[in-house]
Amino acid sequence: MDVNNILVVGSGAMGSQIGMVAALAGYQVTVSDISAPMLEKAQAQLRSRMDNSVAKGRLSLEDAAAALGRLRFSTELAKAAASADLAIEAATENLEVKRGIFAALDAAAPPHAILATNSSTFGSSKVADATGRPGQVCNMHFFNPALVMKCVEVVRHEGTSQSTIDTVLAVATRMGKAPVLIEKEIPGFVANRLMGAIRDEALRLYADGIASFEDIDTAAKTALGHPMGPFELMDLVGLDVSHQIRLATFAETGDPADLPHPALTELVERGNYGRKSGKGWYSYDGVQQ
Ligand code: NAD
Repeated sequence: MDVNNILVVGSGAMGSQIGMVAALAGYQVTVSDISAPMLEKAQAQLRSRMDNSVAKGRLSLEDAAAALGRLRFSTELAKAAASADLAIEAATENLEVKRGIFAALDAAAPPHAILATNSSTFGSSKVADATGRPGQVCNMHFFNPALVMKCVEVVRHEGTSQSTIDTVLAVATRMGKAPVLIEKEIPGFVANRLMGAIRDEALRLYADGIASFEDIDTAAKTALGHPMGPFELMDLVGLDVSHQIRLATFAETGDPADLPHPALTELVERGNYGRKSGKGWYSYDGVQQ
């Protein structure tokens, strides 16, 4: 299927950059949000990012201007959906909010349109039945920051049609991404499960007194070539976020192995959330957040 117009729903950390990625790839894009201030913030941030890319010689002035010219911002979801070939939902991680958006998209978007969710935790089967077109629903899961990270996980639910998958894979490829197809819904999909396994082992090694968390980070960087160690990454993502994700996974699976590690819970209970609170595994005194 030909995709020309893309609608991104949600203009937060993910939606704004997904919109920019799509506009840079030549698509006509509308980024929609219920919050006008969020849209204004997204617009300002994207302009400044493009200015930066031009200043660093990564992008020509003409290409940046053309991409920004293909990007619209709107609080009117139904109007924006009316011309969409593909909608990518990147709104707040709340199932009721997402189901409401999928129902609204289904009512307003043309019959051929594909509706994808960027959710990290909800498989698209959780929103597909809020629409009358479940075969045209899947996950299109970008990584943060979406302008930089190459991976896009395209996840099918049991009823996703092959043509939907083919189209979404082709769009991700045109966006310059390296899409990976995930054949079955599974909590965490693939990349976050791999990261989770490394993080869990790192926490175990630390809690068992095998090595300091600093040395475990050093090993991940110098032996495995990871740009950051698992403890540094937890501090960057936010220990509270990692903690919540584990609780959400446990709520879904009921497997005690999915509960947050006690060492993580202890830090969160002390209010040590990582970089954003100035202290997590490491201290960030004097570091500009
Ligand atoms: P965010 O909180 O930064 O942004 C969410 C945006 O959605 C806000 O601007 C909010 O105003 C908007 N919104 C809320 N309700 C809405 C509605 N009914 N209609 C339109 N807009 C609405 O969140 P985020 O970090 O960008 O995450 C968005 C989605 O992306 C989530 O599903 C999350 O699982 C997924 N995701 C996040 C990351 C990450 O690292 N942050 C990575 C991959 C995927």
